[in-house]
Amino acid sequence: MTRRTLETLSFDNTYARLPQTFYARLNPTPFSAPPYLIHADRAAAELIELDPAQLMRSEFPALFGGSALATGMEPLAMLYSGHQFGVYVPQLGDGRAVLLGEVTNERGERWDLHLKGAGMTPFSRDGDGRAVLRSTIREYLCCAAMRGLGIPTTQALCLVGSDDKVYREQVETGAMLVRMAPSHVRFGTFEVFYYRKQHEHLKTLADYVIDQHFPYLRDAGEKYVRFFAEVVERTAKLIAQWQAAGWAHGVMNTDNMSILGLTLDYGPYGFMDDYDAGFICNHSDHNGRYAFNQQPYIGLWNLSCLAQALLPLAEKDALKACLEIYQSLFDREYLTLMRKKFGLVAEQAEDDDLIRDFLGLLQDSHADHTIVFRELSTFSTADGATNEQLREHFLNRDRFDEWAVRYRDRLRHERNHNDERRGRMNRVNPRYVLRNYLVQTAIEKAQNKDFSEIDRLFTLLQDPFTDQQGMEAYALPPPSWGKHLAISCSS
Ligand code: AMP
Ligand code: MG
Repeated sequence: MTRRTLETLSFDNTYARLPQTFYARLNPTPFSAPPYLIHADRAAAELIELDPAQLMRSEFPALFGGSALATGMEPLAMLYSGHQFGVYVPQLGDGRAVLLGEVTNERGERWDLHLKGAGMTPFSRDGDGRAVLRSTIREYLCCAAMRGLGIPTTQALCLVGSDDKVYREQVETGAMLVRMAPSHVRFGTFEVFYYRKQHEHLKTLADYVIDQHFPYLRDAGEKYVRFFAEVVERTAKLIAQWQAAGWAHGVMNTDNMSILGLTLDYGPYGFMDDYDAGFICNHSDHNGRYAFNQQPYIGLWNLSCLAQALLPLAEKDALKACLEIYQSLFDREYLTLMRKKFGLVAEQAEDDDLIRDFLGLLQDSHADHTIVFRELSTFSTADGATNEQLREHFLNRDRFDEWAVRYRDRLRHERNHNDERRGRMNRVNPRYVLRNYLVQTAIEKAQNKDFSEIDRLFTLLQDPFTDQQGMEAYALPPPSWGKHLAISCSS
């Protein structure tokens, strides 16, 4: 396999060949204090065939901390707009990030290297172009956590710190993060050209995205409709995965919706501790627009914005028809994932109720989502089994017992062995998730220049389904101080 150095990364910048309206060319603005490496992800480096030894070079944080450029990079800030909290904002764009360039690996896969926190751009509006250490740690660790869970996500190549001061509610320090994805095009990238009535650019963008990422549609009839149908499907499946994992995106604005169906832009986000269908992970989301149980619907709402933006390219009725199947795509995927979480193999009409009633029990008992699902694998269908350890999580034991009889009968119907089922369930119900308080602990240590907790969580979350020795504490519910930490948009 090819092993590249920082000097031999193979850049091929297709976005920079698009019309100039699509972006603003500019270099990152270096920090004044020297950047230093906080953490790097060898698995992400592998995707661009970067030799792991390169991560240790002193040039690495210089390059990915905005202080130097590699041959072939053509940095640019991408233009987009979007609906923020339901309101159209005519111009957003990369206000604090630049696309350094695109690296193509030997398999022909293209990866955007996108530097977040790289300084002001023409799209910065009132912002300072920076990202604080706290928010880059949150993004870095959650990318690893989502990948460990098998949920589509952007990757984070590295986290680079600096002693430069950045001003938010308090004085903090700045950091940069290299985000990698096959594309950073968002729903909002389409919206900006639609609302500006630049329909030729809209077509150029759609053709570019299809050419790069949906090549099998290049010569298809009704290709824009079929492209949209793909985005609908990927989005429905992505959000079903979030829901099954008990994870919420705090800012599901259309500028944070990936055209490839990846989890994009980790600002406020959250894995639930206690199960709560109305969970709001973004402290600034006062009306709960992005509450956990709203997210499937918001996915559809966002897709309707994209459909609107595609109107100049495709028939309205055809786009509408794609939107109409969103709910059934979502429901099907969600049910498939949930059946796995419950260890069910066959499909039965009553599964929906069985699942819903269990979630209702969790809600009423304020039971911990991750712990209870993991414990569910210990459920025994044997005669007389009381499943005491699981039962203890529920406040209303009689209701749990009633549910347990239904579940037992349902499992017996499948005739699989308890041990075999346990193994299967433990491969989909994680032992560990990136709880808010765990990230908070890593952040506080890092703010005192101790990066060990970032490394510990990063390693843990690579394999969240396996019990790891000495890590028992990381599987426990949060301590009381860590239960309802307020995470806002400030980043
Ligand atoms: P986000 O909420 O992170 O998705 O950001 C929404 C928009 O605000 C994007 O256009 C960002 O580039 C921009 N933005 C966020 N923070 C800053 C900042 N500190 N400086 C400049 N632009 C920012
Ligand atoms: Mg964003």
